[in-house]
Amino acid sequence: MPYYDFQCNVCDRAFEVKCSWKDLEKVTCPHCESTSVKRRYTNISVLRQSPDCADGCGTYTPSCAPGGST
Ligand SMILES: [Zn+2]
Repeated sequence: MPYYDFQCNVCDRAFEVKCSWKDLEKVTCPHCESTSVKRRYTNISVLRQSPDCADGCGTYTPSCAPGGST
């Protein structure tokens, strides 16, 4: 099963939940048991940043990939 990153809206702590996507709406905070939690997408945005895009294009495109423009 995949891991999902969450952050609690009540105690503001981040936590990881291992569950299926069908159970995402039932996720509760393990610290305060609040059901007011939100998904965190930090890992996704990091993956979309390409270190080869240092020429200021700002966004990842296939041509920015190593060898993609040659
Ligand atoms: Zn909490």
